[in-house]
Amino acid sequence: MAQDVLCEVSSCVHNMHGQKCGATQIYVVNHRDKNAESSSETDCKTFEPTDV
Ligand code: SF4
Repeated sequence: MAQDVLCEVSSCVHNMHGQKCGATQIYVVNHRDKNAESSSETDCKTFEPTDV
């Protein structure tokens, strides 16, 4: 189980200072409904936008 999830998505409400995820758990899915063959083909579905 991941203890520290590093994440730079500062536009997410769960993000801490543009460096870490503060969510209790995250859900990572394949990008565009196909099996990922590289990290660029995955997405975090737990993302929630900030009120920017
Ligand atoms: S929920 Fe996903 S996008 Fe948001 S901070 Fe956590 S890992 Fe990043």
